[in-house]
Amino acid sequence: LGASRTLWELIDRRAALTPGRTALIQDDGRRLAFGELRDRCERVAAGLYALGVRPGTVVAWQLPTRIETVLLTGALARIGAVQSPVIPFYRDREVGFALRESKADFFAVPGTWRGFDHGEMARRLGARGVFDAYASLPDGDPAVLPPPPADGTSVRWIYWTSGTTSDPKGVLHTDRSLIAGGSCLAHALRLTPDDVGSIAFPFAHIGGADYLVMLLLYGFPAVLFEKFALPDALETYRRHGVTTAGGSTAFYAMFLAEQRKQPGEPVVPSLRLLAGGGAAKPPELYHAIVREMGVQLTHGYGMTEVPMITMGDPDDTPENLATTEGRPPEGMEIRIVDGEVRLRGEAVCRGYLDPAQTAAVFDPDGFLITGDLGHLTESGHLVLTGRLKDVIIRKGENVSAKEIEDLLHEHPAVGEAAVIGLPDPERGERVCAVLTPRPGAGAPPGLADVTSYLRKAGLAVHKLPEQVEVMETLPRNETLRKVLKYKLRERFSSTSAPLRSEK
Ligand code: ATP
Ligand code: MG
Repeated sequence: LGASRTLWELIDRRAALTPGRTALIQDDGRRLAFGELRDRCERVAAGLYALGVRPGTVVAWQLPTRIETVLLTGALARIGAVQSPVIPFYRDREVGFALRESKADFFAVPGTWRGFDHGEMARRLGARGVFDAYASLPDGDPAVLPPPPADGTSVRWIYWTSGTTSDPKGVLHTDRSLIAGGSCLAHALRLTPDDVGSIAFPFAHIGGADYLVMLLLYGFPAVLFEKFALPDALETYRRHGVTTAGGSTAFYAMFLAEQRKQPGEPVVPSLRLLAGGGAAKPPELYHAIVREMGVQLTHGYGMTEVPMITMGDPDDTPENLATTEGRPPEGMEIRIVDGEVRLRGEAVCRGYLDPAQTAAVFDPDGFLITGDLGHLTESGHLVLTGRLKDVIIRKGENVSAKEIEDLLHEHPAVGEAAVIGLPDPERGERVCAVLTPRPGAGAPPGLADVTSYLRKAGLAVHKLPEQVEVMETLPRNETLRKVLKYKLRERFSSTSAPLRSEK
């Protein structure tokens, strides 16, 4: 199956191989086998075709982690359309940007979802071709469909970076780059057909495509969490015998906190491997999880442009697993230039929607310049040391300090604003805004004012500051007058390290 050129070919071959095996299990109990997955994708594809979706048509979708979302993805892959996944809790600012930049011809939304009217937002934003893919998917007779795409090297995906350094960038992927990433990941995690996976993160993340590829390659099921809430989620893991769960640092910390409520007795007996990445992981957390939960933990490095860069081998030494991001898979070349990580390989994206950004991100040898700082150890393990840019990773979601600062600067009572991430035991990092008064305007706004102000400005809820601090002036360096954020972090961090194991 690894030789499949397109996502559709992979779906089709898996369905032929193990049609009756379960592919997807929804957290509400619904199940779908690989054979049904294939057949239903084709019917949805026929429905989309009737709406006017053709090979190359750009279809944006903002949908939760749900069977219907996977069906839509597979249907678009069947047609050979270009799909652009958007995180479900993004609001006007991010969604408007994605629709404009991708020039999407269609926009699939969940109607009203969790009390928010996506349909209304889509109309407000002037989106074209809006349809509700939550309540009912398009449907039709597959006989109308043209043959599936034959090549895996055309751009069929536009994923969005978190917009840390500037506006988000539309990242162009091909079926081939995503299949390369997913197969390397499955290999690195040593998954087998007997595993039961789980997706508790938004499927619209590039990790969703990675995961889908893994399921298809190995033929194991994944539990999809549309709603992830404790303690019900743990019951769902137990009920379906989940063997591997993945997410960000905050996700592991959540598991550990649950485990500590019942020491000595595993919270999810079937669980053998926690795997994730995308944010720094404190070594203490690694040791605490392995010791107290009795499961393996492996962590890796990825980015929207290259979803799988390195991943720890679950059987590596505790030292390497705790302090490095693991090694690159075969076919991924890493070069460190002036302390910065550069990458080349099949899983690397084609570039960005904006050709000027594409030209700037590749070096003359075709290596992608990441903006991340790191080094390789003698044994070839990658250690990340920081990033050239400034980002807060809250609950696994990257939050741009600059975006929030820019909005705060427009507040009438704010002189200067510096937004930083502070270590937080539950969220990984929490967002803290440090404000100075605007001369003659009285005191800067407090937390309640800041949040309501930013909400009105259209900022997504997960980016809202959870802490506001006031200073007379911000600490700055002598030469460039840049704000010294590490000084702010030192000053406002809580005194104890967040994840030290309790005695
Ligand atoms: P933008 O590119 O728009 O500025 P972004 O780079 O934050 O935003 P993502 O693609 O979501 O958008 O995030 C990838 C980044 O996350 C990496 O470049 C890296 O800085 C960080 N990251 C990923 N994995 C790890 C990890 N294991 N440890 C530390 N940081 C990580
Ligand atoms: Mg980036």
